[in-house]
Amino acid sequence: MDTSNFDLKKLLRKNVKNLIPYSSARDEFTGKASVFLDANENPFENGVNRYPDPLQRQLKKRIGEIKSVDSDRLILGNGSDEVIDLLFRAFCEPNTDNVVICTPTYGMYEVAANINAVEIRKAALNSDFQPEVQLVLNTTDQNTKLLFLCSPNNPTANLYEEVRVFELLNKFSGIVVVDEAYIDFAKDKTYTKYLNQFPNLVILQTLSKAWGMAGIRLGIGMASNEIVQFLNRIKPPYNVNSLTQKKALEALKKEKIYEKQIELILKERTSLFGFLSKCEFVEKVYSSDANFLLIKVKDASGLYDYLLRQGIVIRDRSKIESLEQCVRISVGTKEENRLLKKALLSFDTKFRENDNKKESSIY
Ligand SMILES: *Cc1c(COP(=O)(O)O)cnc(C)c1O
Repeated sequence: MDTSNFDLKKLLRKNVKNLIPYSSARDEFTGKASVFLDANENPFENGVNRYPDPLQRQLKKRIGEIKSVDSDRLILGNGSDEVIDLLFRAFCEPNTDNVVICTPTYGMYEVAANINAVEIRKAALNSDFQPEVQLVLNTTDQNTKLLFLCSPNNPTANLYEEVRVFELLNKFSGIVVVDEAYIDFAKDKTYTKYLNQFPNLVILQTLSKAWGMAGIRLGIGMASNEIVQFLNRIKPPYNVNSLTQKKALEALKKEKIYEKQIELILKERTSLFGFLSKCEFVEKVYSSDANFLLIKVKDASGLYDYLLRQGIVIRDRSKIESLEQCVRISVGTKEENRLLKKALLSFDTKFRENDNKKESSIY
């Protein structure tokens, strides 16, 4: 994109541009104090009797260090799902604007669009699950405010090719949201280093996947400081609670554990990939840049039911267009994968027996 052409004010909703944000007690106070009588809190200390920092300064400082992104380019949310919702509320006028997604992809974009009464337009990924740049651009019009690119994509597990993403960043005049929920499994492919270059780039990351903190709900948005400031104005003031901020800070100090777990998960993914590729009931195992595998099988619901009877639950994605007979399996621990493989082996044996019977009945 020609940076000088980018006009954020033209993309934002009018009410958001003109909004006077809620100013909380802790927002207005600056300087040093030891007696806090400004927020009607209970004065008796129990660890959580005070309101949390609305701008999560300490946590952002640490995340900024880890991600090599200035902390004033960060917006934190109650999961990425909240950041997605904030983007809709900042940019999309209900019943007027639209957003484009590349399908099949993460279901939350469409849900957030529906909640916000924003039209969702779909541009199908090609047979390699890559976005077709011209098709995506043709799907947009002057009311298209957001384009979602999920890379690595859920549920197809692949990264999008950089040339395609760059072309879209250059040619689409709205906001390009690159959802990097799984980027920890393909770290060097992150677009964080291009934040300076593209004023229309918003990146989403999360502590829910590789960092192992799905339960605390912490999502990370990264963008220009200008965009971040507008998102800060519309977010609920205390959207990230103190327990989450505390727990996240603790976990983010333990980078070694995080690195080690990624290494183990990738090793298990390779092993599972190899195992599945040899199974007779499997049509195709798609290559993965994430912590899950997408697999095309001969009978998805049969496999799903069989595994469930053994107490193993996977995700049946076969109802989704272009994912006929596909299931998605998260990579678990070594022990969980041992149990999974055992169950898959017995399913495969039954499958082979049935196949043989079918063949012998023909002759
Ligand atoms: C899991 C996932 C997220 C994470 O959402 P949180 O609300 O942060 O837990 C975001 N995007 C995609 C594509 C995901 O698969």
